[in-house]
Amino acid sequence: MKKHNFSSGPSILPQEVFEQAAEAVLDFNNSGLSLLEISHRSKDFVAVMDEARALALELLGLENKGYQALFLHGGASLQFAMIPYNLLGANQKASYLETGTWAVAAAKEARLFGEVEIAASSKDANFNYIPKEIGVSPDASYLHLTSNNTIFGTQIQSFPEVTIPVVCDMSSDIFSRELDFSKFDYIYAGAQKNMGPAGVALVVVKESILGKTGREIPSMLDLQKHIKGESMYNTPPCFAVYTSLLTMRWIKNNGGLAAAEKRNREKAALLYAEIDRNPLFKSTVQGEDRSVMNATFVLTDERLQERFDALWKAANISGLTGHRSVGGYRASMYNAMKIESVQTLVDVMKEFEKQA
Ligand code: PMP
Repeated sequence: MKKHNFSSGPSILPQEVFEQAAEAVLDFNNSGLSLLEISHRSKDFVAVMDEARALALELLGLENKGYQALFLHGGASLQFAMIPYNLLGANQKASYLETGTWAVAAAKEARLFGEVEIAASSKDANFNYIPKEIGVSPDASYLHLTSNNTIFGTQIQSFPEVTIPVVCDMSSDIFSRELDFSKFDYIYAGAQKNMGPAGVALVVVKESILGKTGREIPSMLDLQKHIKGESMYNTPPCFAVYTSLLTMRWIKNNGGLAAAEKRNREKAALLYAEIDRNPLFKSTVQGEDRSVMNATFVLTDERLQERFDALWKAANISGLTGHRSVGGYRASMYNAMKIESVQTLVDVMKEFEKQA
């Protein structure tokens, strides 16, 4: 029986996407060939890449605005290096908002290329909030943000207004809500939460910010080369791109980002209401900074852990254990998760209170 999968990533995808992806592995487009055995230069696969790139821009409302969408190898972590490689000149500075483990990792890579300023940090409180007062040098090459902090369960709800280019890691909330995406100059996301299987990252970049560092860039790390190659500079991760396309079609067919956001907010409201009501649980994040994607919470009495763990496992729930740096529990409620799964978790929490 299919489990209620609260895993933080790789994570749940729509059931119909799993089915369509499986079918394509066996027989792609009734061609008598598997998706895994056809040339990436074949007409059928070029059509996949073209549609995936166009649909990513369409969902974000960024068509015909000078942006390019790319599907690249190396996950979000390679982006941590590609961003400064492509945007940060040797004597320049970049500004990073330090809101969690991934933001720290991104800033670390940038230090290899130029100066890094920390615009603000919530490290003092184990990253359990989003800093609101930030100091960004007007001469910095870009400001780097992490829209959703997967590990700590925080999410930026109101983005800082700055005059320099904004780069944003949206790995764990891409396609989950409506935003004015034209306020960002560079959006990137590892696929394996809201979009597809691991092995590909979506990069959406405004072309006009590239080519300004005067630096020689190895071809595979050069965004302009990937744009010129129409995201096929080398063999792309075909299966991951195709599955991401299936998920994007699913999002579009189910009302786009507006409807996805509504569903996601309903799920998060249901779970946070129970965390706040039930005296046996405590949220690790307060107020407006709580993530709609990843809800982190702990037991008020840790001695009850074994009993709670046995209950949720018996209810066919999977992937609820929190990250080691926060402890407790983390319920990841990505786009594909149904509200019925969240209700199952809430019912388990109520039952746990009854039995305690
Ligand atoms: N950024 C964020 C916000 C993440 O959640 C993750 C992965 N959990 C990463 C970056 C790293 O992604 P990848 O493993 O694709 O390099």
